[in-house]
Amino acid sequence: MTDELFRKDSYLKECEAAVVAAEGQAVTVDRTVFYPLGGGQPGDTGSMRWSDGNARIVDTRYGDSGEILHFLEEGSALPPVGGTIHLVLDWDRRYRHMRMHTAMHLLGAVLRYGVTGGNISAEKSRLDFDMEDTVDKEAVTAALQALVAADHPISCRWISDAELDANPELVRTMSVQPPRGKGDVRLLEIEGVDLQPCGGTHLKSTAEVGKVRIGKVEKKGRRNRRVNIHLDD
Ligand SMILES: [Zn+2]
Repeated sequence: MTDELFRKDSYLKECEAAVVAAEGQAVTVDRTVFYPLGGGQPGDTGSMRWSDGNARIVDTRYGDSGEILHFLEEGSALPPVGGTIHLVLDWDRRYRHMRMHTAMHLLGAVLRYGVTGGNISAEKSRLDFDMEDTVDKEAVTAALQALVAADHPISCRWISDAELDANPELVRTMSVQPPRGKGDVRLLEIEGVDLQPCGGTHLKSTAEVGKVRIGKVEKKGRRNRRVNIHLDD
């Protein structure tokens, strides 16, 4: 298993790691700051370098055994297995993913309907809601901007299945039901705004979301509204 450094500190931009495997265009290491595709958030891109080589990382995904695969640009040289490499994230892109991801949590707190889907990219993101009502774009944008301006602190904590069972009121306050049976669940808390299970990368406070606005709202079926989010800068 790869030690997922981004789970404890999403602001890490680089790290040293040992190469565990290098096959095809995919490199596995013992630890990484690269987030793999999941939860609607794209896999990270960046670069790796070693004693006598370097390569672009064009995507990051989970492998079949839960290890994290760093996919190199076609035709790249591979680092030696057992050797040490230095990994560097494309931080500007990842930081926009963190801003978008955190903005989606805020949107979920403003529009308290069931979420049926979502997708994040550096340019725009969307959440699909199970709702028939129309969305007042200006009002939702204003509510989002108020949450950003209030600069709510954001933190993560782990909670065991047993603790969840002992605190049913905690589950009732969550906007998404936690998955059971893995032993423990990672909870994201935006103080006073939202508490829900999530494994993604987030900001440390809502102010960092910056200029956010609601874009197009699309009607995708009678009970489905697709709400697009943009960052203006
Ligand atoms: Zn999240």
